[in-house]
Amino acid sequence: MEKSIFQIPLQVIGRYFFYSKSQWWSERKLDEYQNKMLIKLVRHAAENVPYYRNLFRKIGFDANTFRGKIDMHKIPFLDKEIVRTHKKELLADNAKKFGITHDSTSGSTGTPLHFVLDDSVQANKIAAILRSYHWGGYSLGKRTFSLQSYYFQDKPFHFSPFYNILRFDSNQLKKDAALEVIKEINRLKPKFFMGFPFDLVMLSKFADEAGVTVNPPESIVTYGETLSENKRKLLENAYHCRVFDFYSLHESAAMISECEKGNLHLIEDFAFHEIVDENGNDASERGFGELVGTSYYNFSMPFIRYKTRDIIKIKKENNRCECGRNFRIVEEISGKECDFIQTPDGRFLGAVMSHSIDNAQGVICSQCVQNSLNHITVNIITDKSFNRNSRMELEKGLRKRLGNKIQIELKQVQELEKRKSGKTPFIISKIGNEYF
Ligand SMILES: [Zn+2]
Repeated sequence: MEKSIFQIPLQVIGRYFFYSKSQWWSERKLDEYQNKMLIKLVRHAAENVPYYRNLFRKIGFDANTFRGKIDMHKIPFLDKEIVRTHKKELLADNAKKFGITHDSTSGSTGTPLHFVLDDSVQANKIAAILRSYHWGGYSLGKRTFSLQSYYFQDKPFHFSPFYNILRFDSNQLKKDAALEVIKEINRLKPKFFMGFPFDLVMLSKFADEAGVTVNPPESIVTYGETLSENKRKLLENAYHCRVFDFYSLHESAAMISECEKGNLHLIEDFAFHEIVDENGNDASERGFGELVGTSYYNFSMPFIRYKTRDIIKIKKENNRCECGRNFRIVEEISGKECDFIQTPDGRFLGAVMSHSIDNAQGVICSQCVQNSLNHITVNIITDKSFNRNSRMELEKGLRKRLGNKIQIELKQVQELEKRKSGKTPFIISKIGNEYF
């Protein structure tokens, strides 16, 4: 049967109703749900997904005896490298039944990744995001200002009366455009702001420099990069309102959001989250480690125990939140920290820059180093599948974002540049535009 275009929106409504209830579940109820969903997913993977069929056979894992959370450690991790190299085998034989939407991301690590999402995981993600934003003061129809990468061709911003949203294209974030949109914000007075923390800070800086004030919203939700304490303070001071942090992945394998009481929660009715140490062992006792996530819903391409490469710290003591939800509390998320790029035409690009390399086939990881205002070196580590075509795609993506005035040098390397701290950020600025 042909699917209706309302399939996903209708599912979203159903799931939103579900999530508005499930957030208040008891620990036991949540536990039961997680086990039920994991068992369903793992058995489906064993039966219908070539990658998991082979893997389970190889390690002697019997999905029929799988009991849920307590048995998760028996399944090996999935990482970006496996997804990159086994995409075909990760697609379920019966994926068509669940829906196939191709998506890609390079995340904050600069590793381009292609994968498939089914209708259910998309509907669940939108519904769960809506609930998270609701914690942060959003409700459907509320007048909103959204600063995102829209790639508008004509002008930097547009107001849509239907969605009641003023959209500003972060790719065009420079002083004159910022001052124009601020006029529009002051006229329309949106009550809710959303966007990358870096972009919203830059907008307020432009306002400050020009001596204009921005009509304050009631609240802000940020996502896409780490919200440092510093940025949070800058935003709260600039916009005179509360800021809520939100974390999710294109891969839909994990989600963290801030509640009304100011705590970050693992969204445990959307995905199953684990924290592991350097050796892959459970690190929840230690309290910090790499976040590993499993989405309950992506049957077309199940990601089971997916390593996010982001480090989180969870709250071990006094870990009951006043909000009453039984989702674990996260004290800190680190990982998405990079400098920012300044283009010769006066634009500033933060973590959003990583989207420009999403489509580079054969790139294992990448990094942008700005050596001078007019020159950027893009370091890439590639495999055999990298060819002239992927080089062209990569250059096209970079040009689209960086414009024509900057010199871009693509460099195939064996290793990326590290900071003294040992971190390998996606963007390194050598002209002073450092992460703050
Ligand atoms: Zn809470």
